[in-house]
Amino acid sequence: MSRAYNFSPGPATLPEPVLRQAQATMLEFGDCGASILEISHRGPDFIAVAQQAEADLRTLLSIPDDYAVVFAAGGATTVQALLPLNFAAPGQACDYVVSGHWGKTAIRQAAHCVDARTAASSEAGGFRDVPARADWQLSPDAAYVHLTANETIHGVEWRDAHLSEAVEAGNAPLVADFSSSIASEPLDIAKFGAIYAGAQKNLGPVGISVLIVRRDLLERSGQPRAPIFDYAAQARAESMLNTPPSWNWYVLGLTVKWMLDEGGVAEFARRNARKAALLYAAIDGSGGYYRNEVAPGARSRMNVPFFLHDPALDRTFLDEAKQAGLVALKGHRVLGGMRASLYNAMPEAGVQALVDFMREFQQAHG
Ligand SMILES: *Cc1c(COP(=O)(O)O)cnc(C)c1O
Repeated sequence: MSRAYNFSPGPATLPEPVLRQAQATMLEFGDCGASILEISHRGPDFIAVAQQAEADLRTLLSIPDDYAVVFAAGGATTVQALLPLNFAAPGQACDYVVSGHWGKTAIRQAAHCVDARTAASSEAGGFRDVPARADWQLSPDAAYVHLTANETIHGVEWRDAHLSEAVEAGNAPLVADFSSSIASEPLDIAKFGAIYAGAQKNLGPVGISVLIVRRDLLERSGQPRAPIFDYAAQARAESMLNTPPSWNWYVLGLTVKWMLDEGGVAEFARRNARKAALLYAAIDGSGGYYRNEVAPGARSRMNVPFFLHDPALDRTFLDEAKQAGLVALKGHRVLGGMRASLYNAMPEAGVQALVDFMREFQQAHG
């Protein structure tokens, strides 16, 4: 079988040129006489890979110099657990603005060691919107305010006016989970205390996460923790306190380089806007055959959940989609229905193929 258009939410589709390069260097990397999997992370060959990946990521995301970048093993959930340990005092208030499943996960990871408060939540409305800025209940003494830039399961994204209001959150630094939307459009990182992402949605393979943090936050004492969980120590050691996930770091670097070669985040913003517009138009123009329930101003460009008018057709839809070369469209079990993830590596032709298929499916099963 040839490669299908893969709408997986994560681990997600990677650019084919990246996979080919990774394949080519699997047996022998440069003139090392060994695979990149088999060389020391402290040798010059891997150090060069790691430094280039950071330099390219800084260029891609326009990361200001007063922000450190930490690459670490583990996922976004690991970062969610380490945030309160590093940036809050024991029992200190931390404000969470919740617009979906992952915001709740972040609270769960923090609640055992800080006073993790829900400053606002759109759960009562089924997470079909972001909580209005006017309704946030911020704590005067919060260590930070946390939000999820893009809710991967609920398909809710902080955009435009919502995002501009959110980043003026107040005194506490804003910390944002960008796992499923990092590098999807230009972002003013200076508005945030920290942003983070697991790599497997938009940056590369699973197994590595990226934390971009304003350096003054690294001076906070946080609370008792093992040295390996200390972000300041990781930053000082250039993310090599212990053996980093070197293969993942390498493939992340290839993915970042590919994004730069394609034209950077401004170009991906244009592509992503066109892809999302195409799919939402197909859903909204289907006369109710397909529907998306998210408020128009909070619709995600990256993850589009949608439902068939008759859930009894879901299985057939997925089977026929697969035969048409469109895979991983099944919705998350929390919501059911379908979900199409349209990360940077999903070409516009893939979304066109999806909307063509959806139209044909409706004609055949209408
Ligand atoms: C996938 C995802 C997570 C969880 O990532 P893991 O790497 O599995 O820990 C957290 N937040 C968001 C927004 C995600 O999309």
